[in-house]
Amino acid sequence: MSRTILTLNAGSSSIKFALYDMATEGSRRQLSHGEVEGIGSEPHFIAKDAAGATLTEHHWPAGAKLDHEALLTPLLAWITAHLGEESLAAVGHRVVHGGERWDRPVRLTPAVIADLTRLTPLAPLHQPHNLAAVQAVARLRPRLPQVACFDTAFHHDMAPTVSRLALPRKFADEGMRRYGFHGLSYEYIAGQLREQAPALAAGRVIAAHLGNGASLCAMHDGCSVDTTMGFTALDGLMMGTRCGNLDPGAVLYLLQQHGLNASEVEHVLYNESGLLGVSGISNDMRTLLNSSDPHAYEAIDLFVFRIAREIGALASSLGGLDGLVFSAGIGEHSAPIRAAVCARLIWLGIECDGDANARNAAVISTPSSRVQVRVIPTDEEAMIATHTMNLLYSVPA
Ligand code: AMP
Repeated sequence: MSRTILTLNAGSSSIKFALYDMATEGSRRQLSHGEVEGIGSEPHFIAKDAAGATLTEHHWPAGAKLDHEALLTPLLAWITAHLGEESLAAVGHRVVHGGERWDRPVRLTPAVIADLTRLTPLAPLHQPHNLAAVQAVARLRPRLPQVACFDTAFHHDMAPTVSRLALPRKFADEGMRRYGFHGLSYEYIAGQLREQAPALAAGRVIAAHLGNGASLCAMHDGCSVDTTMGFTALDGLMMGTRCGNLDPGAVLYLLQQHGLNASEVEHVLYNESGLLGVSGISNDMRTLLNSSDPHAYEAIDLFVFRIAREIGALASSLGGLDGLVFSAGIGEHSAPIRAAVCARLIWLGIECDGDANARNAAVISTPSSRVQVRVIPTDEEAMIATHTMNLLYSVPA
């Protein structure tokens, strides 16, 4: 039986994929990864091997208007050519929203897809793209099993006090609550931490997923207790282009005093704010760290301040703190940002080891630090492949 799993992470401007060989129980070997990028402008498909060497590429003409079926055709054709017609066991999708109902991965059937489509108003910028990829694969390979893995699922069991919004109850009845996102990343980090430091994993840990999207998750014994993203993935930390938490009165001001309509405000909050908005230069942390422009410094300083402030808040949710884990693009690679966050948290018992931090070591706190600080590279695709395999092929005990 084939044990090759394709993972898809379909967004508005790109579809990221990875291909895994799950041949033996519990093992996972990445065969390839890549993306269809430039959707809507200059679409380009590229597949690389695990070491990063290009395996195949396909360019479409600039401005080509392509649906997901057209965009996924070269990828599926390449997989078939490489591995044979019956090669692929299943496709696992990252689906941003599972709502109240879906608290674990689920096999995609027409009824499940209809239910997930109903959640589109809760994640209008992500859910339609995730589901368009599902529909496209269903048309191109109707017999191929598909599985949805949700960004919200890891946070599903947060206590009502944590998930409730202080709005009139009638809105809660239609699903307005704090859901939390980046759940696949946090689940992977929790699993890695259990392997690397089991005693710490059983304690009170804050994981910091600091990429272009950024959030924190407070975990107790590997379960999500609180998180900074809420009803949408706009809440919480300042991000590459998203504002993070914001006085709702500021939204009213933009609507009423600037006369912006709802979609213009949406664009400001999702695409023009965060590191890009404050610096006026870039959403890319590397660019800002290399810039001598004072606005770049202000953007970085605000980014760090907000992380430290939210870590303080989540430490309160946990009733103390035993561990802090940095992850994702900035968290895994940027020693200066980690050092600056830790420096603001000395009061919490965090002592950063400068040498270990500069080396991106697995443990970057000093031996005497009351809170252990670690760096754990995240891998959402590996999590999706594992869930997909387990859901479809594990034999119940
Ligand atoms: P991600 O969304 O996880 O891919 O993370 C993207 C972010 O990570 C961007 O802001 C990048 O600038 C940042 N990043 C990646 N590598 C580094 C690095 N070596 N130093 C600082 N930031 C980095």
